[in-house]
Order: sequence, then C-alpha cells, then structure tokens
Amino acid sequence: MEKNFLKMTRLVQFLETLRLFGELHAPTISESGVYRFSPLDDPAELRLDYHRTQIPPKKYLLPFREEILHNATGSYREGHSGAKDLVLFGVHSCDLEGIAYLDRVFLADAADPGYSARRSRLTLVGVSCEPDDFCFCPEERESTACDLFLGASGEGFHLACHSARGRAVVSAADHLLEQGPPLPPPRFSGPCFPPQDPELRFSDHPLWQKFASTCVSCGACSVCCPTCYCFDVREYPTLSGGAARIREWDNCLFVTHGEVAGANFRPDRLDRLRFRFLHKYCGFTPLQGISSCVGCGRCKEVCPVDIDLRELTVTPKRVQP
Ligand code: SF4
Ligand code: SF4
Repeated sequence: MEKNFLKMTRLVQFLETLRLFGELHAPTISESGVYRFSPLDDPAELRLDYHRTQIPPKKYLLPFREEILHNATGSYREGHSGAKDLVLFGVHSCDLEGIAYLDRVFLADAADPGYSARRSRLTLVGVSCEPDDFCFCPEERESTACDLFLGASGEGFHLACHSARGRAVVSAADHLLEQGPPLPPPRFSGPCFPPQDPELRFSDHPLWQKFASTCVSCGACSVCCPTCYCFDVREYPTLSGGAARIREWDNCLFVTHGEVAGANFRPDRLDRLRFRFLHKYCGFTPLQGISSCVGCGRCKEVCPVDIDLRELTVTPKRVQP
C-alpha cells in the first residue's frame, strides 16, 4: 500500500514542509470576520472550516493593480511581475477550477507575461470542502487542477498527486505519511452549468427587467468571481517625462465599462447584466460554449439585492414573470 495518508495530528508539520516550496498562504479570518487567503505566519490561524473567501485566489495571479510597462528613460520596459515561489494551501475545488479557467484565458496562444511568471511559481494544494446554501457545484466534484489534493477522511486526509510538483511535496513529507487504502479515482461530474443558449442575450425574458430594476451596479458580483478577469489599461505620465502603464481590474457592471471613444455600448443596467450573463454562461470566442461559472456561490452571497442569475437558466415556461 502507498503512503498517502496524513493524520490530522501531523498537519502542522506538513504545513512546515510546504514552506520549503515557497511562501505559504492559506485561508484565515480577518479581525472583522472576513475569510481571505493570506500569509500563514502561524498555523493556528488556519481556518479549514471556511466555505469561501470574500476575494478568490485570482488575486495572486491577476493583482488588482500592476505596472505592466515602465518608461523612465524614453523607452518602455516590462514592469516587475512580482513573481515568487508561493504555496496556496486549502483551495477548494471551485477555486481550483476557477484558476484552470483563467489559465485558458491567460496562457493560451499569446501567454500574458505577468500571469505566466506568477503561475509558473505557484504550488496549488487543494482541500475537500462542505457546501453551504450558496454553493452549487456538483457534490461529487473533486478538482484535479492542482498539484496536490487533500481529501478529508476520518482522522486525516488522503493525498492525491496531480503533478510532478505535487509528487515532490509528497516526497518531502514522506516521513509524515502513513499507508492508506488505494485512492479512489477523483470525482468530477462536469461543469456546474451546461453551456447556455447565447440567444438569451437578446431575449425579452421578463427576468432581465426584474433584475435591472433592483441592480445597483455595485460590481460586487464581478469583483468576487473567481473567473471574472476584465481589466483596464491606463497610462500615467510623470512630471520627469517618464510614464507607467498600469493594468487594473475593471468591472462589466460599471457604466464606464462600455465606453469607447465617446460612445457607450452598454449604457443600460439591463444590457450590462445580460453581457455578464453571456460571458459567464455562454463564453466568448475562443471559449464560446464553455461556461466559466464554477459554482462558488460568491455572487449570490454578496449581492446586496439578492440577484441570482441562475434563475435565468430555467426555461421561460417555468418562470413566473
Ligand atoms: S458567477 Fe457567481 S457562482 Fe459562478 S463562479 Fe462567478 S461568483 Fe461564483
Ligand atoms: S452584486 Fe448585485 S446589485 Fe451589485 S452589480 Fe452585481 S447584480 Fe447588481
């Protein structure tokens, strides 16, 4: 039998071993009661009982604001990516799938240099979870989009490696592991949302009006979404003649998002909500037909007016206008 079982009593030592692979970050709770991924200086701060962090782990790969180009001498140079060896421990399957989706966007044909540099130095350690009322990923989901996955079982965790780096972690932690029964195959039951009909964008479904009448365009649903990645690029000149080109998160729920050269393609709230729906559940080329919703439930939890776009996925016959 393989050594693939970690007793809960050895978790702290396991965390110390993870530090060999980079700066260790994990779910913790702030003084104001907000779950977040943050540096794990003290293992006692670890909160594996969390359901979801307010901001997803995309913040490590797509910083809220970053300098992508810098010009101090008359010519542009790439900004510093900030890449460092980082271990993210305790990531749930939905967020692992969220990162896998971002990989498809930012590592495809023309890989984004900053994202690519940060991603290549990131070690992902997933942990199984217990859903709450906001979650809607399939219960039998267990993502393999990580280096190592810890499935809670009895008095500890079953370890499943999904990359060479995961195997290196297990090798380094060999003295902490015990023989366990053969690992069951990973459970994965497909996307949370089947691809939706893009025609919904143009439909006169009464729910669009209902949502638009209450949405306050706060953008919280997009900020907290693990697969929302809209960004804006701004140029900031300096008095000394240089400049910095900054990339920062944008938000398709904001009225400014559709502004181009004095025109606005989506001036109405209803249009912006429909645009987000189309992007989340129908996909854009070349990811057309692929849903990017991983079922984390954040958008439903944070919306101040309880908008739940999933209502749109039921057929119009079943919807009460
Ligand atoms: S659309 Fe909502 S539930 Fe789906 S991944 Fe984004 S935040 Fe999570
Ligand atoms: S969180 Fe709710 S109110 Fe805010 S932009 Fe999203 S749908 Fe609108």
